[in-house]
Amino acid sequence: MLKIRLEAISLAIAVLTLFSAPLRAQTGKTLKTIIVDAGHGGKDAGAVGQYEHSLGSREKDVTLSISMKLVAELKKQLPDVTVVPTRTTDIYQDPKEKARIANENKGDLFICIHADSGPLKTGRRQIGTRTVTRHKITYKGKGKKRKKISTPYHVVEPVYEYFKLPLAAKGTTVYLFAAHKTSDKLKAIMNEVGEFEVEADSDMDSTTSAFDFTTPEGRMLAKIYMSRYQLKSDKIGTLINDQIEATGRPALGVNQRQKGIWVLQATNMPAILIETGFINNPEDERYINSEKGQQELAEAITKAVVLYKKQLEEANAKSN
Ligand SMILES: [Zn+2]
Repeated sequence: MLKIRLEAISLAIAVLTLFSAPLRAQTGKTLKTIIVDAGHGGKDAGAVGQYEHSLGSREKDVTLSISMKLVAELKKQLPDVTVVPTRTTDIYQDPKEKARIANENKGDLFICIHADSGPLKTGRRQIGTRTVTRHKITYKGKGKKRKKISTPYHVVEPVYEYFKLPLAAKGTTVYLFAAHKTSDKLKAIMNEVGEFEVEADSDMDSTTSAFDFTTPEGRMLAKIYMSRYQLKSDKIGTLINDQIEATGRPALGVNQRQKGIWVLQATNMPAILIETGFINNPEDERYINSEKGQQELAEAITKAVVLYKKQLEEANAKSN
């Protein structure tokens, strides 16, 4: 009980700190830096096209191609925004490395590009027959004279070939960091102890304020940041889903994955992961490997980011 009351008091203090004029927290600022992460890389190929007659494409190559097109498109349409790719070549990166790049570059948005997959069923078909010899066992005589007689005979049996069936699932899905994993997100926010940029009102210079996230008040403040990140992640996720839908592709919505996605939890910023398509669905595999498909995805995501930036700026203008 006491603990709950203390937390309530801390929350009140944190809210007061956060909203007291003239300081406004950094979560209200516009979009200045976007981190684009090409999922997997190097020794980590990610999912591979494995159904029969697939292109055999590797997720790490698809994510790199789409990410490079996305980086180019974002730079073209948002020249005042810094766009930082986590990788531009086929190199392996530990998820910690990806998160470090995002945090060190002080991203305001983290976009992870991936391709989906799922367990494949095995099919079989008859490719011929073969003749096999079997033996019929009979017995002759009685008692000690009983004799075993083996008579060979031939049977024709089918020969089967086994193969991987393609996935029926297709489309693009956007994932957010899972609510039950938020303690990691909290940790990522709290790692930024001290130097936390706080934007001043228009009549004041931008300043840096030292928030100590190790204190109960700081912890509550971090929780407020976290829920704001979640709201923003949901906002950009929904905009992306809408733009994907506008291309005519199946848009499978904005979801939270039960397992959680580590890299989304480890970044101190709104973060989303886009499963661009199913690498084991024939239509999707061809789409995400094609120049046209990759460019269409890059443009749809960019359109959503442009709208998101506009919404942030409008919200900021209102609060000023
Ligand atoms: Zn992946």
